[in-house]
Amino acid sequence: MMPFSKLGGTISERILEIRRTLPPSVRLIAVTKQVSVDAIREAYDAGIRDFGESRVQEAEVKQAQLQNLTGITWHLIGHLQTNKAQKAIGQFQWIHSVDSLKLAQKLNRLAEQLSRKPQILLQVKLLPDPSKYGWSTFDLLKDLPELNRCEHLNIEGLMTIAPLGLNDSEILAVFQQTRELANKIATQNWSHIRMGQLSMGMSDDYELAVEAGATMIRLGRILFGDRPA
Ligand SMILES: *Cc1c(COP(=O)(O)O)cnc(C)c1O
Repeated sequence: MMPFSKLGGTISERILEIRRTLPPSVRLIAVTKQVSVDAIREAYDAGIRDFGESRVQEAEVKQAQLQNLTGITWHLIGHLQTNKAQKAIGQFQWIHSVDSLKLAQKLNRLAEQLSRKPQILLQVKLLPDPSKYGWSTFDLLKDLPELNRCEHLNIEGLMTIAPLGLNDSEILAVFQQTRELANKIATQNWSHIRMGQLSMGMSDDYELAVEAGATMIRLGRILFGDRPA
C-alpha cells in the first residue's frame, strides 16, 4: 500500500500521478465528503468529472455552490435512508450504496414518479461486518428476482467496501470474490440487472481493487489529505 507521504504536492499533482498508474478503463471518483468547494474546484481543474459524497445534505450545499462547473457526475456512496431517497434521485446520477431490497424498491417507485432512471449499484459485503451495510452473497442471490422487477432503475453492478483489519491478500480475496459474484449474476441473464460495473477500492486498497477488476475506485484521503476526525 502506498504511504500517503509518498504523495506530496498539490491536489492536481496527486490526481495526475494516480491517473498515470491507472488503466484508462478505471473511473476515478474523487470522494469529497468534508472537502471544501475550493479543493473540489482544484480537482475539477485537474480533469476530475466524477465526484462522490456520502451524505445527501452535504452534497446539496456543495452542488449549489458548484453549479457553474459543467459536466460533473455525482455519485452517492454513503448509506441512504429511505426518507432521503427522493432527494438522492434528484441530486445524484449514480447511487453506489443501494444496500437493501426495501431501498431499491423505494427508489424504483420514486424513479417512476419522477420519470428518472438512476444508475445504481448493489452494495454487498462478502464477509460479515456489523459496521457495514450491504447484502450478503446469500441474501443478494435470494433478492435478485425482486430486484429484476425494478424496471425504473438501471442496475449496473456491485459496490463493496473491504472490512478493516485485513492484510493485502485477504483484501484482494474480498475484491476477487466480489468480481466472481458479479460474474455469476451476469451469467444468470436477468433482463433488468447488468453487472458491468464494480465499484471497489479506496485510498488504502485501490491498487488491489484495480488488480481484481474494479471499474470505479473511490478515492478521498489520498487526493485531499486526511479528513478531520
Ligand atoms: C469515505 C469513503 C471513501 C473514500 O475513502 P478514503 O479512504 O478517503 O479514500 C470511499 N468509499 C466510501 C463508501 C466512503 O465512505
